[in-house]
Amino acid sequence: MRIFDPHIHMTSRTTDDYQAMYDAGVRALVEPSFWLGQPRTSPASFYDYFDALLGWEPFRASQYGIAHHCTLALNPKEANDPRCTPVLDALPRYLVKDSVVAVGEIGYDSMTPAEDHALAAQLQLAADHGLPALVHTPHRDKLAGLHRTIDVIRESNLPPEFVLLDHLNETTVKAATDSGCWAGFSIYPDTKMDEDRMVTILKNHGTEKMLVNSAADWGKSDPLKTRKVADAMLKAGFTEDDVDQVLWRNPVAFYGQSGRLQLDTPAPDALHEGNSILRGGE
Ligand SMILES: [Zn+2]
Repeated sequence: MRIFDPHIHMTSRTTDDYQAMYDAGVRALVEPSFWLGQPRTSPASFYDYFDALLGWEPFRASQYGIAHHCTLALNPKEANDPRCTPVLDALPRYLVKDSVVAVGEIGYDSMTPAEDHALAAQLQLAADHGLPALVHTPHRDKLAGLHRTIDVIRESNLPPEFVLLDHLNETTVKAATDSGCWAGFSIYPDTKMDEDRMVTILKNHGTEKMLVNSAADWGKSDPLKTRKVADAMLKAGFTEDDVDQVLWRNPVAFYGQSGRLQLDTPAPDALHEGNSILRGGE
């Protein structure tokens, strides 16, 4: 079984997670830039973070046989902080990098005017660079947030097939798929979507343009949720081909629109900027 996790924050995860993901079948992932929990106080800390998503983290992933790509953006939460918004002006020089396969995560957190501005500006950046966009839908007030998100996408120059609407659930899946966008589901322990609810959604709405991710980060989350959904699908009577479509071919087709996916994992370099993941002397 081959698995592509289309949304996971490896910066917050350990080498044990990389190993366990490889053992479970994960061969490729996309790491969206996001809020790190601790608020940033200047654009410079975004740039070091973007550089890590372009350099250090792909290096770490390659040590475990996993292809790493990223999406870059000013995240919805920090779009409200005027200390951070100059990032919007610097993004064009990052969006031309080889392993950037989308603009993201963008979208709404609290649906403020500052978030309106950042979302519209970054959808335009995606259109300008021929890139897809990964759009986070709000965790509160979900359906209203989704409708407002879809309205902004419709007014943008980015076609819906270049948009992945993420963090969907039973209440938002229909509006999302009707919009022509791709549909993403984040499977979390305890809260929000779990693997059995995901299987029911796939039974009711089919496997076309549907993506499943772990969205694992610094919070309570599980980087093996993609594999657990695959196993739940097989147990519920889906075929191996259905699993391959949802867990591999759909994310490849969506991010492949960037023209930048490199899925063969070359032999890893021993060092990145003089550093290895080994402890000194090993
Ligand atoms: Zn995320």
